[in-house]
Amino acid sequence: MYDVTIIGAGVVGCAIARELAKFNIKTIIVDKENDVANGTTKANSAIVHAGYDALPGTLKASTNVLGNALYEDLCKELDVPFKRIGSFVVATEESDIEVLKELKEQGEINGVPNLEIISKEEVRKMEPNLSEDIIAALYAPTAGIVGPWELAIALAENAAENGVEILLNSPVTSINKVDSGYVVVAGEKEISTRYIMNCAGLFADKINDMVNEPFFEILPNRGEYNLFDKSVGDFVNTVVFQTPSKDGKGVVVLPTVHGNFLIGPTAEKVEDPNDLKTTMNGLNFLREKAHKVIPGFPFNAVITSFTGLRAKVKHGDFIIEESKNSKGFINVAAIDSPGLTAAPAIAKMAVEILCKSSGGFETNESFNPNRKPSIHFIDLSDNEKAELIKKDPRFGRIICRCENITEGEIVDIVNRKAGATNLDAVKRRARAGGGRCQGGFCGPRVMEILAKELQTDITSIVKDSKGSYILTGSTKSSSVEVN
Ligand SMILES: Cc1cc2nc3c(=O)[nH]c(=O)nc-3n(C[C@H](O)[C@H](O)[C@H](O)COP(=O)(O)OP(=O)(O)OC[C@H]3O[C@@H](n4cnc5c(N)ncnc54)[C@H](O)[C@@H]3O)c2cc1C
Repeated sequence: MYDVTIIGAGVVGCAIARELAKFNIKTIIVDKENDVANGTTKANSAIVHAGYDALPGTLKASTNVLGNALYEDLCKELDVPFKRIGSFVVATEESDIEVLKELKEQGEINGVPNLEIISKEEVRKMEPNLSEDIIAALYAPTAGIVGPWELAIALAENAAENGVEILLNSPVTSINKVDSGYVVVAGEKEISTRYIMNCAGLFADKINDMVNEPFFEILPNRGEYNLFDKSVGDFVNTVVFQTPSKDGKGVVVLPTVHGNFLIGPTAEKVEDPNDLKTTMNGLNFLREKAHKVIPGFPFNAVITSFTGLRAKVKHGDFIIEESKNSKGFINVAAIDSPGLTAAPAIAKMAVEILCKSSGGFETNESFNPNRKPSIHFIDLSDNEKAELIKKDPRFGRIICRCENITEGEIVDIVNRKAGATNLDAVKRRARAGGGRCQGGFCGPRVMEILAKELQTDITSIVKDSKGSYILTGSTKSSSVEVN
């Protein structure tokens, strides 16, 4: 019997798993995918928002500001890349200045510190590559950038190190209420559990409806992006938003924590919660909008494009509450932006709700908040490199030449709790395949390492989701059919 079952291993579910690891209870986190952070958490703007966007009094506003404040310590404990680089909302028309003032006022009500409206000269002094047409900006020094999937993976790993079980490849298909709580069917497993946290992102409505009357519907909203090479990674050093309109925050341009450059997202309602395609229209739109603030940007330095899906609801706010008719079933749903920023605060709030409902749990005195740091070979001194290679020669073999990632680093992240089992999982943890060639050169070597470490046949290694096979067999094998 489990105490808590968390459905969905995105950043929200993983943050809750780690919070629950602070108690002496039996917790399991389940996901339908073959890795943690394989939903919306792997495709977003990676911004730790300051907190001036959300309407005062909403859950979005309170959890954004608190979540932002929690980031520094959390990312230190978990060895996750986080940089507090600040953000601008830039104005190009006189009428935009009114919007900046409203945002500043809203932010101050929400509790965002040190907001300031600054002049064109001050903006251009900080960001000389921004357009001459910018006449002022709202500056929010507490905004930052993070590695979103790195955070979710680190939360899951730390939760697992502290006793939480992780069950992947296991879609939840039914939940039955029983006297002692619930029975959750997840893949081939039946999980008896006292409490449930519904953190299923784009599918949270379906999970709710397995137990409760439907009361919300997730409306997927597509956001497309272009990611650019490190050679243009410092084109601006701050997160730069344009003045928002009724359609949302608009296109943002920003550096990433790993030194790349990101432009996006679009915003488009879609029907299908799996619709992750990018479109020519969407990418052209990004280029046109970005050109307004960074006119000299070399758009030909693009290395890949991708799409993320927002889990929106009609009323617009997060849903973080215990179900009215199902005691111990807690919905943590409709977590669209700023859900990444808010996740640490959402987790605390959801666990507080659970503790209130259950009467509380005994503290886990042996909880260790610190995750074993990852090895970044290229950042070590020559002496440290030599020492490491002496101990383990696999650190002397560079596998990914774009990002300078060694075999030793890949082996390390495969063998951790919540370790990598596919090509993109390696990319998300160690960055092998995350550089200019996007795995074109190192992909086959990474597959060999995965097959060896996981003791499996290389043809079973997939690119990302289940069934995304890369190899079908040997070209010299007589068993390969030629049509
Ligand atoms: C375009 C875009 C830009 C964004 N930019 C930002 C930003 O800059 N800053 C910010 O703070 N936020 C941003 N967000 C929001 C942020 O990305 C999300 O709020 C956050 O990732 C949500 O995390 P989650 O854990 O709720 O959902 P997810 O990451 O989607 O996780 C849900 C998990 O549930 C699993 N699941 C679903 N159904 C089942 C089932 N039946 N059985 C088992 N498992 C199941 C899924 O596989 C998935 O892993 C952005 C979002 C988008 C789309």
